[in-house]
Amino acid sequence: MPETQGLLRATTCPLDCPDACGVLVETDERGRFVGLRGNPAHSASRGTLCGKTMLYGEIVANPDRLLRPLVREGGKKTGRFVEASWDEAIERIAERVAPIAGADILALWYGGSMGLVQRRFPLRAMNALGATVHDGGICDATSTAGFECVLGRCLGPDIETLEDSDLVILWGADAARTVQHIQPGLQRLCRRGVPVIAIDIYRTDTIAALERWGGRGLVVAPGTDAALALCLARIAYELGFADREFLESECVGAEEFELHVRAAHDLEETARITGLSTQAIAELALALERSQRPFLKTGVGWTRRRNGAMGMRAVCSLAAVLGCADRVHYESFAHFGLAEDVVRRDDLRPAGAPTQAVVQVGLGRELDAGRFRAAFVWCHNPAVTLPDSVAVKRGLAREDLFLVVHEHFLTETAELADVVLPATTFVEHADVYRSYGHRLMQYARKAVEPPEGPRSNVEAFAAIAKRLGLPRETWEPVAEALCEELLVASRPRIDDAELARLRAGEPVKLRPQAFRGWGTPSGKIELRSEAAVAQGQPALATYVPDDGAGDRGRYVLVSAPSVDTHNSTFAHSARHLKKAGPPRVHVNPEDARELGIGEGSKVRLSNTRGALTFPVVIAPAMPRGLVRVDGLPRSKDMPEGIGINALASGATSDLGDGNVLYSARVDVTPVPPRSPC
Ligand code: SF4
Repeated sequence: MPETQGLLRATTCPLDCPDACGVLVETDERGRFVGLRGNPAHSASRGTLCGKTMLYGEIVANPDRLLRPLVREGGKKTGRFVEASWDEAIERIAERVAPIAGADILALWYGGSMGLVQRRFPLRAMNALGATVHDGGICDATSTAGFECVLGRCLGPDIETLEDSDLVILWGADAARTVQHIQPGLQRLCRRGVPVIAIDIYRTDTIAALERWGGRGLVVAPGTDAALALCLARIAYELGFADREFLESECVGAEEFELHVRAAHDLEETARITGLSTQAIAELALALERSQRPFLKTGVGWTRRRNGAMGMRAVCSLAAVLGCADRVHYESFAHFGLAEDVVRRDDLRPAGAPTQAVVQVGLGRELDAGRFRAAFVWCHNPAVTLPDSVAVKRGLAREDLFLVVHEHFLTETAELADVVLPATTFVEHADVYRSYGHRLMQYARKAVEPPEGPRSNVEAFAAIAKRLGLPRETWEPVAEALCEELLVASRPRIDDAELARLRAGEPVKLRPQAFRGWGTPSGKIELRSEAAVAQGQPALATYVPDDGAGDRGRYVLVSAPSVDTHNSTFAHSARHLKKAGPPRVHVNPEDARELGIGEGSKVRLSNTRGALTFPVVIAPAMPRGLVRVDGLPRSKDMPEGIGINALASGATSDLGDGNVLYSARVDVTPVPPRSPC
């Protein structure tokens, strides 16, 4: 598909989603935005977009969209902004930031747009300032650390080969909400009689769909995945379907691992830990034994807990025992091997600038304690999306923190800013995208002109850098030149033919790379990991119960992805909010009976960090002891005026310093209805 075809221009969905769908932007004859549709030339998304992005016009043409910079008058507590010109806003930033030492400036970005250029270019200015950067650990840090610990580089099978499998196991992957474009393939596999099995902690939409199609779901107790995987490994050894040749040639610590799993993890004990029947575990083992070409699709969310990396290590170790380590699909970013660092330019950091990244998951404590004097936020809404969000907001609201936010809307973070800069949407700027779920990438040029006022990340941070007198590299390039620089620097990974197709705007699946070894320190699969030992973890994957990060509540709280919204991206779209409905908590029917509550009753979820009140949905899909809230409700829609992440700890996971959102435990208390007097 060429970039422009009549009134259609090709780009990629920029949201933090592994599908990274091919998008066609429809414009009218004057080049104005009309709407989005799927790009049929995109082999992974095959011409379809999810319902969230189909309504992206609600962002582009939203009456609340920021069109002019805002600067604060008076203190943060007054909550008063006045409109300013870009020059005035930049001048305000320069006055306040110039005297601040780099280490006291926080660069705070995340996945609001996954474009490689727009998302990363602001780091050039931050690097030149010597600002403190964070470790990125909020989404997939734990799962990546667990995966890499055993299997090395994140590559896995091409997701487009899913249907070549004779068994699919979705381990903690709620495909219906998080990898929507594999759903049709799963349905076709079920129709062909191929076993498709989803393992999760409640009866997800994916499990419900599989059960309709002939697949099945296994609901395990939260945080017990490692116990299940290690039991399956033991069965493989005992019944003789462990791949001993593979173990010997490809793995470090194979003998030790076999002794380790044979010494524990028997069927009855695993059934007790996981809540599965012994029969269900045995049937799962049988499915693995029969499979010649399994596909293990692991998600990310299931590892967001204190023992999350251990769960991933155990699943990866199981795959090694079965000899199918190359059939674990987690993330695909190692496929690309692009020269992504040319955009951020770490070499611009002055001598003496801090080299230690701050742990993003713990930023609530750091901000609240006043560690920074200035912060720049882009592609991020930390007041909502970070754990321990009350502390995060308190920290961002400090009068001694000068806060600059580049955004589409006055988000909960922008409301606390000193200067808010209006941002372009993805259809209004150029960028390069690569998926972390499939193997396609795309160079997308600007599809429509932005309204007067908003500027892209590149334009906004270049203007700031120039006024601050930073080196030419931080302010001279424009987005298209940066995209070219990235693509050209990525040669020979991108060959001439691929480069030509990228320049033409096509979604391009890069050729596979030839790798040597597995990408671990030893080059082999590490069933025994010295790197884990060095970080205070057991050498072998081991079941360690989730300690709840100190929470003592009776219920595990899961804040699950919403099918109608995307983190806080659509928090200003009335249509998305209407589809999602008001914030609610899903409760198991027997738990509800015991609590004396019914559909629509109100309950308070509480722990040591806060309390939130929700109306109840009686949900047979929820197991006992687990309550679920979908999406990230807006603080202003909650009676307490705080969001769901107020209940999440800022503690870190076992490896990777990732978040522990799903270790949160709460008490659930009925809220008596108000008397009608
Ligand atoms: S959010 Fe995901 S599924 Fe939806 S259009 Fe974007 S990439 Fe595709």
